[in-house]
Amino acid sequence: MPNTVPQPADLVHAMPDPALVVDAQGVVRLANEQAVELLEADPAGRHLSATLRAPDVLEAVAETTSGAGSASVDYEIRVPVPRAFRAHISCLGAGKGALITLRDLTREQQIERMRADFVANASHELRTPLTALSGFLETIQGPARTDPRAQDKFLGLMKSQSERMRRLIDDLLSLSRIEMNEHVRPSGEVDLNRVAAHVRDVFSGMARELECELKLASDGPAVVTGSRDELVQVLQNLAENALKYGSTGKLVEIIVRSDAGWADVSVRDYGPGIAEQHIPRLTERFYRVNAQDSRSRGGTGLGLAIVKHIVNRHRGRLVIASELGKGSTFTMRLPVKAG
Ligand code: ADP
Repeated sequence: MPNTVPQPADLVHAMPDPALVVDAQGVVRLANEQAVELLEADPAGRHLSATLRAPDVLEAVAETTSGAGSASVDYEIRVPVPRAFRAHISCLGAGKGALITLRDLTREQQIERMRADFVANASHELRTPLTALSGFLETIQGPARTDPRAQDKFLGLMKSQSERMRRLIDDLLSLSRIEMNEHVRPSGEVDLNRVAAHVRDVFSGMARELECELKLASDGPAVVTGSRDELVQVLQNLAENALKYGSTGKLVEIIVRSDAGWADVSVRDYGPGIAEQHIPRLTERFYRVNAQDSRSRGGTGLGLAIVKHIVNRHRGRLVIASELGKGSTFTMRLPVKAG
């Protein structure tokens, strides 16, 4: 086979990002497949401005092709969906045009926004009980200084606010620990029937206080590869939610089932249910259907985010089914241990 030298066009086509070559007049001479797909038309043979509606980029291309080295310009498109890009323009030599590469920044910017939102939400959630604590302290030091009964009352309120802060910090730490290990698959052997029985025992007192029956049902063995502690946490969060939000249905069931390579544990309640539009967002951090209601029941808004991350780490799935007025079923599906 003769040894052939790659042509410039081969290099442009081999680039992983959208890439275009324009001549000194700004007419597109070459576009790789990714660029054609992004611009939704083959721009070759036409002026760049016919397909790329980003005045800053066009200006930078004009400057660069007239001999001004290279430039990077960020731009956004609105249709069909909003996306952000960085165009890098490199001059190919005097009078020879330029190479333009486009990098999609949409995902990066979304992650950055989520991180910023998370910090803002976490700070807000922590500041609320802290503000209440400072208020109670001032009352104890001021108007209630000589009133032991009022002091007792405010100390009780302070205790519940500090417990709320502790719960939040515990949940934030759990979340960060699980996220850090999410790519490592756990290796222990876990019997889901025993996990379910343990969780039923842990919540039997709470169920009794709420006058709600807590039942366990199983159709046979269900052993998976996983971390026992984390799977206990999943079921605890689900059982606690079912009791917290669904105890009006007077029955909460934990159901273990296995079939066709999957083991399912469902927690079912017959409470008020969840409107459809909320379901896809329930596992977002701090997402609550009713923030006031969740806070008054000691919720942090992080329980289902923790559940989702643990289930992901176990290569499983979380399935949420709910109907208003009828109740909700949260199911953790895990691959059963082979052999
Ligand atoms: P929280 O600490 O607020 O309970 P979660 O992440 O555990 O946070 O749950 C998020 C939201 O999902 C809750 O605030 C509640 O609105 C809703 N939710 C969770 N489980 C149930 C359930 N079994 N029935 C009705 N609503 C529920």
